[in-house]
Amino acid sequence: MPDTGARRAELEDNLRRVNSRIDEALAACGRSERPTLIVVTKFFPPSDVALLSRLGVRDVGENRDQEAAAKAEAVADPQLRWHFVGQLQTNKAKSVVNYAHTVHSVDRIPLVNALEKAMARRHEQSGPAGESEAAGGRAVLDCYVQLNLAPEDNGRGGVSPADVLEVAAAVHDAEHLQLKGVMAVAPLGGDPQEAFGRLAEISADVVHRYPGATGISAGMSGDLEQAIAAGATHLRVGSDVLGARPPVG
Ligand SMILES: *Cc1c(COP(=O)(O)O)cnc(C)c1O
Repeated sequence: MPDTGARRAELEDNLRRVNSRIDEALAACGRSERPTLIVVTKFFPPSDVALLSRLGVRDVGENRDQEAAAKAEAVADPQLRWHFVGQLQTNKAKSVVNYAHTVHSVDRIPLVNALEKAMARRHEQSGPAGESEAAGGRAVLDCYVQLNLAPEDNGRGGVSPADVLEVAAAVHDAEHLQLKGVMAVAPLGGDPQEAFGRLAEISADVVHRYPGATGISAGMSGDLEQAIAAGATHLRVGSDVLGARPPVG
């Protein structure tokens, strides 16, 4: 039996530390609007997610459908919003919309179409209003268009900046999808400040066309300060809250 008391204290301490870093970063750039902290729980057990919920966390992130679907079902906490942040195959769209409140990794038109189709089907099957909400999914799926800020590095997903408006338009036009903004992971080995600066410029272009899409999902354990300085509205923090990731078994 794991010592949940000790784990709870550890998570509480880590959360407090991350929240102080956020406070300091906000103060350093004179921002007052606090970004949403999404705690990325990949590789960690449902018991950790339950502890986080008791500590007041409302937004959790996952990057693999199989793990996320099982965890969302095991935790079954209606107070939690599940954010899907990983690369997503079109054949997983149907599963993801069953639990996800938001997908941060929309990076191609076929994925937009698959998510819309899955949401439309959910909608048809949900019957009386509210039933599908109770099951964890939403009537409308929030979406971020993921950018690849390092075109020479194709491994991490994302559209090239030249294609962002085309994908944004497809999300915007989809009846059951809501365009929230843009998302990116800072390129490995690059300067996150420079990368997030470019993301902020691309975000401004998207907002110019779609005034409601003001979201910027950026910043992880190692670069949340730079993301906040660049205007991030949503941070995705894993290891600095949960600890080093256990080896994949
Ligand atoms: C794992 C992951 C995170 C969290 O990363 P940490 O460095 O553990 O904070 C954020 N975003 C994405 C897309 C991830 O896959």
